[in-house]
Amino acid sequence: MSTNGTWDAVVAGGGPAGAATATVLAQHGRRVLLLEREQFPRHHIGESLMPYTWFSFERLGVLDWLKTSGSPLKHSVQFVSTSGKVSQPFYFFQTIEHECASTWQILRSDFDRMMLENAASHGVEVREGVRVQDIIRDGNQVVGVTAQSGNTTEELSSKVVVDATGRDTLLASRLGWKRRDPDLKKLAIFTYFKGAKRDPGLDEGATTVAYIADKGWFWYIPLADDTVSVGLVADHEYLYRNSRDPEEIFCREANGCSWIKDHITPGTYLGPMRVTGEFSYRATQAAGDGFVLVGDAFSFLDPVFSSGVFLALKGGELAADAIHTALDQGDVSAAAFESYTRDVRHGLDSFRHLVMAFYDRTFNFGEFVSEHPDLQPQLVDALVGNVYKDLQPLFEAMNSYLAQGGPRPAPVAS
Ligand SMILES: Cc1cc2nc3c(=O)[nH]c(=O)nc-3n(C[C@H](O)[C@H](O)[C@H](O)COP(=O)(O)OP(=O)(O)OC[C@H]3O[C@@H](n4cnc5c(N)ncnc54)[C@H](O)[C@@H]3O)c2cc1C
Repeated sequence: MSTNGTWDAVVAGGGPAGAATATVLAQHGRRVLLLEREQFPRHHIGESLMPYTWFSFERLGVLDWLKTSGSPLKHSVQFVSTSGKVSQPFYFFQTIEHECASTWQILRSDFDRMMLENAASHGVEVREGVRVQDIIRDGNQVVGVTAQSGNTTEELSSKVVVDATGRDTLLASRLGWKRRDPDLKKLAIFTYFKGAKRDPGLDEGATTVAYIADKGWFWYIPLADDTVSVGLVADHEYLYRNSRDPEEIFCREANGCSWIKDHITPGTYLGPMRVTGEFSYRATQAAGDGFVLVGDAFSFLDPVFSSGVFLALKGGELAADAIHTALDQGDVSAAAFESYTRDVRHGLDSFRHLVMAFYDRTFNFGEFVSEHPDLQPQLVDALVGNVYKDLQPLFEAMNSYLAQGGPRPAPVAS
């Protein structure tokens, strides 16, 4: 194989998961090459952060950027019922006595570019406009990738390959590991408005989740430059029932949701209207001999609790630590990544419990807390991202409250 020298790790994909993995590996002193298909900045959805991303940002050294980026501060989440009744905002600072109680609403094009620049400043070699085509194997062991840039294809050898290709799921698709979550067959339609209504004061940067009658929900996420991200998530069949035109569907649903209608009416539609299908999925495994899957390349979960970027960042940290230890011990077989796999599944399972409760019409978070006041701290932990701990008592109580004794487990063993 022709090589540019052997890398400790080649990372495919430069979103939050790839950038975090690469940066932490470089912090450990590893030689890392990151290959990103696009030229940044590029659009990406996933703009609302969760409080516990703060700790990843601290480790990656990007807190100053966030604080000075002009990104609106997110202090809370509020819910709007189908009748238009607005809940009391859930202010993070009421339960967390830490700076992380204020998080941000980010423009992903700027944020993702900053994360790549930060990786480069830590010593990662970043190449944009380079698509990873495939993995190279020696027997069962993955030993590198083939990468394409323009008309040139190159073979790159590496001790470990990290798949951080997001919803493209390069390896999970190729290896037949990807399993859709049959209980979360949703579709998202989303766009942007300028000059739309913002709530005053502390609530200016709040995420609002507005229910669509029994079927799904809208998000309303205030961004910088007086722009607002607005999207809806609901079942395929419901959304496509009498049209497949995204703009028509968006308008139909917005007209039926008084809070959203009221807020977007003063604004100017910026477009475009985007659609994302194939919602929640998980790969059967998070690692193999010589490779690891991180972030959406391993699993994607319905975004109602804004968990995606948090899981990508935290997954990146966990993967990088596991790879560093594996390299030290000279064993990068699948077995060396067992605890990584256990940890990422644990985080995902925690959020999946919340997501399933959200979609269960018999579940009410307020009622649940009044019946189980002792479990409120655990519920708050789960909602803000403090999930790498034992939350079993919370989920057992939630399951017994939910219809039919709780949701079905994730589509793969966990
Ligand atoms: C509708 C919707 C709303 C969401 N809302 C939120 C939210 O409010 N908050 C939140 O936290 N999360 C949200 N998410 C989830 C969030 O977008 C993702 O979880 C997050 O971006 C995952 O990061 P990642 O690095 O794993 O993947 P990505 O951010 O997708 O990055 C993957 C990168 O890999 C690159 N790539 C792909 N294939 C290749 C290849 N072959 N070679 C090289 N590079 C490649 C891509 O160009 C991309 O830059 C939302 C998701 C959706 C679909």
